Amino acid sequence: MKEPERLLESLVTGKISRIGQLEISLSENGFILCHREDVGRIDLQQCQVDDAVEIAKFDDKDRYRPLKTAPTLRRGWKIFANNSEEASRAIDAIYPGRLAVLHTFKGGRLSTTSLRETLNRQSGMYRVAAKISDEQVDALVGNFCRSDGGCLRTILWKRDERKTVPSAKLPPEKFDPAADQMGKGETCIPLLCQEACNLLVAACRDMVKMEGAASSAP
Ligand code: SF4
Repeated sequence: MKEPERLLESLVTGKISRIGQLEISLSENGFILCHREDVGRIDLQQCQVDDAVEIAKFDDKDRYRPLKTAPTLRRGWKIFANNSEEASRAIDAIYPGRLAVLHTFKGGRLSTTSLRETLNRQSGMYRVAAKISDEQVDALVGNFCRSDGGCLRTILWKRDERKTVPSAKLPPEKFDPAADQMGKGETCIPLLCQEACNLLVAACRDMVKMEGAASSAP
C-alpha cells in the first residue's frame, strides 16, 4: 500500500470521512464514495472507480469544470471501491494530487510558493501577470479563491516574501487546514493549495491586460 492510500485508510477508519464535497464511507466490501449532499439518498447511480474522471469533468448543468476543486461537483452518483487503493484512485480523479500533497504536508515536508514568486517565474504571454498590483491581488484572490463559489482548497501560500496574507477579503478559515471549506463545520480532510494554480495566474494576467486596455482607452 502506498503512503497516500495508507493515510486515507487511517483517516476514514478514524471517522474523518469527508474531503471537499466528497463523503467516503466504509462498507463490508471496501469503500463507498458519494457527494456530501447525497448521503442517505437511495436513488444514486451506481458507478465504478473508472467513472470518477467523467464525474469530475462536468457540473450538474453539464458545464465543463476547469478547476477540479471548485464547489461544483455533480450529484447523483455513488462509487464502489474495493480497497483503499481504488478509493484513493477515485479521489485522485476527482481532486487530482490532493492526497499526495496532504501526505507531504502531514510529514512536514510540504513547501509553498508565494504568489509573487509564481508570477515572477512566468514566461511568454503570462509574464505580464507579474505587473498586477497588491490591491488587485487582494480583490482578485478574494473573489477567485473564495470557498463559496470559487474553490474549496485551503490556501497555504502567501502573497509575497513578506508573508502577507493573500487577500484580506478572505476569512481566516480559508487558511486553516482544520476548517471545513464547505462551511458546515464538519471534520474534513483538507484540499490544500500550496501554490497558485494556472487559472489564478491567467486571471492575474487578464486583470493586468484589462487595466492596461482601460487606461489606454481614449
Ligand atoms: S489558487 Fe488555489 S485556492 Fe485559488 S483557485 Fe487556484 S487552486 Fe483554488
